[in-house]
Amino acid sequence: RLEVKGLTRSFDGRRVVDDVSFQVPAGQVTCLLGPSGCGKSTTLRLIAGVDRQDAGEIRVDGEIIADNQFHQPPERRPIGLMFQDFALFPHLTVAENVAFGLDGPLRRHRDRVHELLSRVDMTRFYEMHPHQLSGGEQQRVALARALAPRPRIMLMDEPFSGLDNRLRDEVRDATLDILREEGASVLLVTHEPDEAMRMADEIALMRGGRIVQRGAPYNIYNAPVDRAAAGFFSDIN
Ligand code: ATP
Ligand code: MG
Repeated sequence: RLEVKGLTRSFDGRRVVDDVSFQVPAGQVTCLLGPSGCGKSTTLRLIAGVDRQDAGEIRVDGEIIADNQFHQPPERRPIGLMFQDFALFPHLTVAENVAFGLDGPLRRHRDRVHELLSRVDMTRFYEMHPHQLSGGEQQRVALARALAPRPRIMLMDEPFSGLDNRLRDEVRDATLDILREEGASVLLVTHEPDEAMRMADEIALMRGGRIVQRGAPYNIYNAPVDRAAAGFFSDIN
């Protein structure tokens, strides 16, 4: 369970993340939805711990990982990341990349690596190196790698955007199935309302650094808080 309370971060005197609060229960997906520049990626960076908030607190399963006094370093947080600009290790095979975050050598993790690669339809690339893969194939390996350590929290910043439509639906559904099965809390950033409608248990609408509305997709769609929120959903059919 991820809980964020009063999260605030300014750059050059401008509040880019402004008093943001929300929770993501275990096994659920919250979509952070909002226009370019509204503060989505910055929010994720604060939760991941690669940037530090000016105020607010972050808890995982009730335990504080960041507040005004304490800043747990990113590598100690039980948090997985899938960002737009994923990078595989070029000198490692696909299988070694997936096993990278696991303790001990690859041979101890063959079953887990196989399972994950089959979920993203990549088992036949097991022994290959990243330069032998297309961009979309590399992205699927990066997803498997992020899932491997069974993170309690998964932060995803449009991680499916480089895939074609068919593959995107497939990989996205498989990824979220795995995360739900394992009881992870998923925070998925998107600027596509129809993706949020499909994937989210809860949508948090963000604008100008603030969360302007939170709720079940159906409720937000039917009762948008204002004209701008309504306009955001108007392209969905
Ligand atoms: P997009 O959908 O385009 O990815 P976003 O919602 O992820 O947008 P952020 O990357 O969080 O937006 O950026 C929010 C605002 O904060 C932007 O105006 C950006 O210029 C500003 N910002 C982010 N990081 C910094 C920084 N390190 N220094 C100064 N300004 C920053
Ligand atoms: Mg962003």
